[in-house]
Amino acid sequence: MGNKIPNIKDLYACLQCGYCRSICPVYRETGWESLTPRGKVYWLKQLSAKSLLDKLLGRKIEITDEWMQKLFTCTLCCRCESLCHVDIKFHEFWEDARKWLVENGYGPPTAAKDMYENIKNPEFKNPFMEPTAKRDEWYKDDYDLPAKAEVVFFPGCMTSFYEYQVLLNMLKIMSKAKIDFTTLGSDEMCCGAINLMTGQFDNFKEIATYNVGQLEKRGARTVVTGCPGCLRALKKYSKYVGKSNFEVLHTTQMIDRMITEGQLEFSKDFKKKSLPIVYHDPCELGRISELEGKGIFEEPRRILNSIPGVEEVLDYPNNRMNSECCGGGGGLKAVDYELTTKITARKVDEGIELEANTIVSSCPNCKAQISIGVEAKKDEYKAKGEKFKMKVMDIADVVAKSI
Ligand code: SF4
Ligand code: SF4
Repeated sequence: MGNKIPNIKDLYACLQCGYCRSICPVYRETGWESLTPRGKVYWLKQLSAKSLLDKLLGRKIEITDEWMQKLFTCTLCCRCESLCHVDIKFHEFWEDARKWLVENGYGPPTAAKDMYENIKNPEFKNPFMEPTAKRDEWYKDDYDLPAKAEVVFFPGCMTSFYEYQVLLNMLKIMSKAKIDFTTLGSDEMCCGAINLMTGQFDNFKEIATYNVGQLEKRGARTVVTGCPGCLRALKKYSKYVGKSNFEVLHTTQMIDRMITEGQLEFSKDFKKKSLPIVYHDPCELGRISELEGKGIFEEPRRILNSIPGVEEVLDYPNNRMNSECCGGGGGLKAVDYELTTKITARKVDEGIELEANTIVSSCPNCKAQISIGVEAKKDEYKAKGEKFKMKVMDIADVVAKSI
């Protein structure tokens, strides 16, 4: 191996106590010890401790493709960190480990490599091979956005290309609140979160430089995004390109501010038949942001509680710092799609147990992932000759319906 394994102290600090095992969504669905946080930590420790004696005895403690896949079989939900007995900073540890593997020529999985290349390609500037012009085709004829504005809305790739209803709703909300805003339109580039989570860090600085340049050209003082992955990546830009002139907010912080400052008023009740709502805390918006400084837990709840007709917002049994991943995190889909659907099914089942009629989240990836789970549940019910109804909404969808 070339570079030294990172975070060696953590490898030796691990007590193998197993506290992290039962809460790991990957372990829960697979039952494989080698996929638990402690299993992966143990393997890395064995690699780091490989001695001359191992060589002499012909013991093979090597990285294999199978092991690389195991390290990527993780949603990066970081619930393991909130429970770890010796406080291993898993929100950095897993990314460092993946980066180390990639730098040494192992991985990432093929789909992650393809996404990296697509982001680099000027025809796309996004992981999904979508043409750049598609970013603003949903709204450019309906909104005459200025070349410069105080607020720049950064929807992110998932919202721009697939969850564009969330994008349209956010534009509606900001217009209604008379916010001076614009977007980067087709000049937006992927925030680079995928690069960080898949160990492909080498061009992150380039991405940061490009996006900061575009944001500053628009005169941004505040950059707003509804994607927790973009939020974390945008906040990391200053580490790579120096301090910029803008603050970065999540849409829930922005909407919460608009309500508090009286810029946004509601005029319509939320549909009775879609109540009650259960709120799902996205891992990156809540727990991981808290581990990095400040988690966003209360803003979305305050917003939902201020919607006319909403009397109660339900919580999942495990919420806030203990929230369970929806299955859509960490690029797991690129490694084991079926596993993600099993994790998601649990989220939907818990919603059913709570007798919720709508699952609301504050992340386009969660919305997309939970929607897959709901569709699968509909098919399951249909096969039994029954009907299943459950809405999945982003918080911007809920707010836009009530203004
Ligand atoms: S980050 Fe989540 S999925 Fe990954 S090892 Fe930790 S608990 Fe398991
Ligand atoms: S909780 Fe922490 S110390 Fe215990 S096995 Fe898991 S990683 Fe190791």
